[in-house]
Amino acid sequence: MKKLKVPAYNWRVVKELKRYALTTKAKDPWGHGKKSSKDFKREMTGLMLVEQSKRCGYCGCRLFEKRPHRDHIAPKEDYQQWMFWPENLVLTCFTCNTDLKKSFDPVVTVGHTYRLTEFSFVHPYLDTPADHIVFTSAGLDLIIQEKDGSLKGKKTIEIFDLASVERSKQRAKDIMHDEDVEHLHGNYRDLLESAIEALQAKLVTVKARFPRAGD
Ligand SMILES: [Zn+2]
Repeated sequence: MKKLKVPAYNWRVVKELKRYALTTKAKDPWGHGKKSSKDFKREMTGLMLVEQSKRCGYCGCRLFEKRPHRDHIAPKEDYQQWMFWPENLVLTCFTCNTDLKKSFDPVVTVGHTYRLTEFSFVHPYLDTPADHIVFTSAGLDLIIQEKDGSLKGKKTIEIFDLASVERSKQRAKDIMHDEDVEHLHGNYRDLLESAIEALQAKLVTVKARFPRAGD
């Protein structure tokens, strides 16, 4: 299973920006017009668009927004030390970021390093979605569920409303749209491949039940 890779960014600049976020008197260091932070935001967005294959880092759906949202996985207001930390940034769709996650804090315990920090939902860079979420086909429905009782899987489905009719429809549309799974968002590729398999099995069942003339 391929994990989403953290875009490589100049380490020296990241450390400098971290120091700035922790020591500045500016009320909003993220929005503040400092040149190195502007460059960082612009360049990181470009790198993430490529790494995420223009898909939302949370729900895996296509990013149609002209300017996708940059979400701070651990909210920047509560974790200033990770405000400019590449592993804490992900591009997301409007629904996931603004409608659903909002200011939700997924941090359970803060570790000595970012990677040792415990998160309550599937972290786009640190976790493998297929370990926590699974698609199953029940009759004509394609169901998304937590895998083996995974609490992270459960939380992810709950926070991002992944089991709702609307989001399931969006996912199905996306799947049908993707003819070549090679281009799928890395983290979700296996999940979507299994969804395609389930959908194809479903289509076979439907066809068998309602054969068209000539089939
Ligand atoms: Zn999303």
